[in-house]
Amino acid sequence: MKRLSTLVTLLLVAILAIAQNSTKPVIGISSNWGEGTSTSVSLTYVQSVIRAGGVPMVIPLTQDPELLAAMLERVDAVIMTGGEDIDPLKWYGEEPLPAMGSIVPDRDEFDILLIKMAVEKNMPVLGICRGHQLMNVAFGGTLIQDIPSQVKGSKVKHSQRATSSYGTHTINIEKGSLLNKQIGLEKVAVNSFHHQAVKDLAPGFKATAFAVDGVVEAIEKIGSNRVFGVQFHPEGFTSKGIDTFIGVFQHLVKEAGAYRDAKK
Ligand code: MN
Repeated sequence: MKRLSTLVTLLLVAILAIAQNSTKPVIGISSNWGEGTSTSVSLTYVQSVIRAGGVPMVIPLTQDPELLAAMLERVDAVIMTGGEDIDPLKWYGEEPLPAMGSIVPDRDEFDILLIKMAVEKNMPVLGICRGHQLMNVAFGGTLIQDIPSQVKGSKVKHSQRATSSYGTHTINIEKGSLLNKQIGLEKVAVNSFHHQAVKDLAPGFKATAFAVDGVVEAIEKIGSNRVFGVQFHPEGFTSKGIDTFIGVFQHLVKEAGAYRDAKK
């Protein structure tokens, strides 16, 4: 009898666990395209979504809008991940500077299509590093192609050599902005792995955090609390159990839940 009740209890716990996971919002994560033969994401994004209470799903690279639409039907929010430089000539009409890094035209096409479709659906979107820059470019903004050669007098190292769970430069965050509300801080040390940055903001967006050299470190869509980007890598901390930036992911998961509930 005791064995039976233990069995029933275990069964109930299992059912409860499955039910809980199946009601969690699903967060789509945009992929890298390694030389055209793989589609992959860093585990740090996956782990951060899980820690924030979401269910992670990798969105594989495709140029087929119908296929992408079908994938977007199955997720409640999207994270646009970090990666290569965006082709300046094609996407914001600038000749490439000598210091521009590597570009992946196929990934540019995929990412621009993905973010436009997601925002069109009023889906929550978090852009990280390249994803944050891409958000600005997709909606009409431009980029600094190379901080060391274009930001006169910058004395901040934006390409740190320290590990990604360690903050190396300060950012000042606008009070009342999404990032400020998400992490509860107006000043914090962030990690930094970029040589590009937002230059002219896309219409309808505002910059909400800056490094001390003036480089934009966060943007958000004005009048929306669902579309926002950060230049640093919050997942570098969150995936390692450091909770300074977990609010960024928790906010995304909360908005993803609201998006899904509104669809019902
Ligand atoms: Mn930086």
